[in-house]
Amino acid sequence: MPIDPTRPYDDQNIFAKILRGEIPSARVYEDEWAIAFEDIHPQAAVHTLVIPRGAYVSWDDFSARASAEEIAGFVRAVGAVARAKGLVETGYRLLANTGRHGGQEVPHLHVHILGGQPLGAMIAR
Ligand code: AMP
Repeated sequence: MPIDPTRPYDDQNIFAKILRGEIPSARVYEDEWAIAFEDIHPQAAVHTLVIPRGAYVSWDDFSARASAEEIAGFVRAVGAVARAKGLVETGYRLLANTGRHGGQEVPHLHVHILGGQPLGAMIAR
């Protein structure tokens, strides 16, 4: 079920629990601003999720409220994970589903890093 990105942050969401280490994840990266872990249902050869440590529901919430430091730290973390995964030469796709039309299911901002194979059309037809 897509979430409503205008709702207040719910600190019981599954990614909040992963951040706090309350439920397991295949964590591949962490720094002061972000953590990254493997998507549990990968849709490409590489499918990694990067989330900010801060409590932000969506891209909309993050871009409106996060500090310049948080935004810079998060963007740098996404780039660092893609580099660490060896995706720069072959290329990759970033995806931040937001709200109903975007099909966002988890109400903590996450960027999908997809790669390791040709990814096809940008939008399913
Ligand atoms: P979205 O539709 O953009 O909200 O994507 C949510 C993503 O989170 C999906 O690709 C799910 O497969 C992934 N996901 C859900 N629960 C977990 C989990 N416990 N560990 C890793 N990935 C998860």
